[in-house]
Amino acid sequence: MFESLSDRLSGVFDRLTKQGALSEDDVKTALREVRVALLEADVSLPVARDFVKKVQEKATGQAVTKSVTPGQQVVKIVHDELVAVLTGEGDPGALKIDNPPAPILMVGLQGGGKTTTTGKLAKRLKDREGKRVLMASLDVYRPAAMDQLAILGQQIGVDTLPIVPGEKPVDIARRAKTQASLGGYDVYLLDTAGRLQIDEVLMQEVEDVSKAVSPRETLLVVDGLTGQVAVEVAQEFDAKVGITGVVLTRMDGDGRGGAAFSMRAVTGKPIRFVGLGEKMDALETFEPERIAGRILG
Ligand code: GDP
Repeated sequence: MFESLSDRLSGVFDRLTKQGALSEDDVKTALREVRVALLEADVSLPVARDFVKKVQEKATGQAVTKSVTPGQQVVKIVHDELVAVLTGEGDPGALKIDNPPAPILMVGLQGGGKTTTTGKLAKRLKDREGKRVLMASLDVYRPAAMDQLAILGQQIGVDTLPIVPGEKPVDIARRAKTQASLGGYDVYLLDTAGRLQIDEVLMQEVEDVSKAVSPRETLLVVDGLTGQVAVEVAQEFDAKVGITGVVLTRMDGDGRGGAAFSMRAVTGKPIRFVGLGEKMDALETFEPERIAGRILG
């Protein structure tokens, strides 16, 4: 288990003399602990450094409130700053899906939870917003992935585009668009192929599909347990196709949420949803407070 930041800091401050305001030295000592805690929570080094600098400016000279210890006070400053960085504008779960049929492109590496999340999101849009949803798999390299989406569709009562063997991803995307228009669907979700790592072919394909349908939302699905890799993946996808948000999966595991923080800090793109299990209803709107709490431990 990790030592929580609150515990670390109370230890540090026990050794310091109590004064009326947080001195520069107090803050420096505390922030060393904060930096370690952030790194342990998988926040990337440059992001942790920047963050600590910001907190240092905020905390130095701040009067110590009588009701809390200096340690608690630093934890609060850190917490509030984490939440401030993590909080996007408006409701993270509100997708741009007016003007039907609205295309949503799902991108990410293989195994990140893309297909599962496509199903979860389709179910959410259908059940909570009463939308007519169509899903299509563009993973022509893995027929099993196409079947997986079709099976999920049957389970949750959402239509999937019929599979045509041999069809190219861009053509499937175009067919989905036509089908969505003719069939009176509100939204169509395109589940793109993933690779084990980012490569040119994958990126070109996602770019071509994106150009073909002009997605209203491009959601990057990443495994919340992957830490630093997730940040690089987010940067690459954002540079190539311009993501509009991130879905962080496997947050039911013991990931500390640092990846979410780094991704937000580096790309500026909002985290929209978190995956909390394999079941089709295990998708929740992102809550900055919860991740901040996890990072602090
Ligand atoms: P894809 O290759 O990106 O399409 O990944 P899949 O959707 O096939 O997911 C890979 C595995 O991760 C499957 O076994 C999913 O059930 C599992 N999975 C996806 N999202 C979550 C999640 O939020 N929590 C947990 N525990 N498992 C998940």
